[in-house]
Amino acid sequence: MQRVFRFYSDDLFIRATSVISTPVVKAMCEVQKTGPLATMALGRAVTGAVLMAAQLRDKQVVGLHFRGNGPLGSVYTEASYEGECRGWVDQPDASVPLKDGRIDVASGLGIGLLNVIRSQPFEKAPHIGTVELISSEIGDDIAYYLHQSLQIPSVISLGVILSPTGEVEVAGGVLIELMPGATEGVISSLEASVASAASLSKLLAEGKGPDALLKNYTGSIKMNPIEHPYEIKYSCRCSADRVERSITMLGREEVQNMVDERRDFEVRCEFCGRTYLIGLTRLEEILAGFAQMN
Ligand SMILES: [Zn+2]
Repeated sequence: MQRVFRFYSDDLFIRATSVISTPVVKAMCEVQKTGPLATMALGRAVTGAVLMAAQLRDKQVVGLHFRGNGPLGSVYTEASYEGECRGWVDQPDASVPLKDGRIDVASGLGIGLLNVIRSQPFEKAPHIGTVELISSEIGDDIAYYLHQSLQIPSVISLGVILSPTGEVEVAGGVLIELMPGATEGVISSLEASVASAASLSKLLAEGKGPDALLKNYTGSIKMNPIEHPYEIKYSCRCSADRVERSITMLGREEVQNMVDERRDFEVRCEFCGRTYLIGLTRLEEILAGFAQMN
C-alpha cells in the first residue's frame, strides 16, 4: 500500500512528508490519456498536492491550479488529507522540444499563475491563494506559494521517471517545511544537508522508499515518523448529485436557457471522463426550484 510518510524533527521546527506516488500518477495519466509532457506536469503536480494535503486536517482538500500560457494550458490536481486525488490537464497531448535532452515542463506550462485552493468541510467558500509561476517547473512554484502566502520556507523535490516510450516508471517526492521560530542553527544544518543531497531522480530510479528520499535531504537531523495510515488512491468523487448541484450554481437564467433548448444535456466529468445525462424533465425541476426560492 502506498501512503504519505510524515515526519517531525525533535524540536518540531521541521516537518516533512515523503511519498512514492507511482500508482496514482499512473492511474491519473491513463484516464487523462496524457502524452509524456502532460504526464510529467500532472505527475509532479499531483505528487506535490498529495504531500501538501497530508499536512492538513481530516477531510480537507488542497487543489493546485497551474494556469500558464504554454501549450499544456491549465493543469489542475487535488488531493485530500485522506490521500484521495484526481486531476486533469487541458491539452493532454501537447508537446514542446526537449531541453538538454529532458522534457521541458517549464515551456509546456509557460508563464502564468498558480492558484492554491484549500477547502474544508462545512466551510462555504474555499480559501484561494494566488502566486505567479516563478519557474513553471511545478515544485519551485509550490515552494514559492508556501513562502509567499503562508510564510513557510520549504524544500520541495518532485520526480517522475518515464520509460523510453513515455510510460510512468516511478514517481515520488519530498516536502520539507520550516515552521515559524526555527533557529539559525536548525536552518543552517538543514541547508547544509540539502546542499549535499543527491538528485531525487537518481534515488527514485534506484527504487528508494520514502524514508531514504527524506534522509537524502535531512541527513543527520533526526526525523521522527508520525502515523498517517491513509492509502493514496486515484479516485473521483463525481456523482449525479454533484453534477446537478453545479448546474444549479449556474444560476436561474442559465438553467432557463438550457430548458428553452428543449433537450437533454450530457455533462462530462473533466476529471474521470464519466458522463451524466441530465434530462429535460430534471432541468425543469431544477428551474422550478429557483422559483420556490424567491
Ligand atoms: Zn469524475
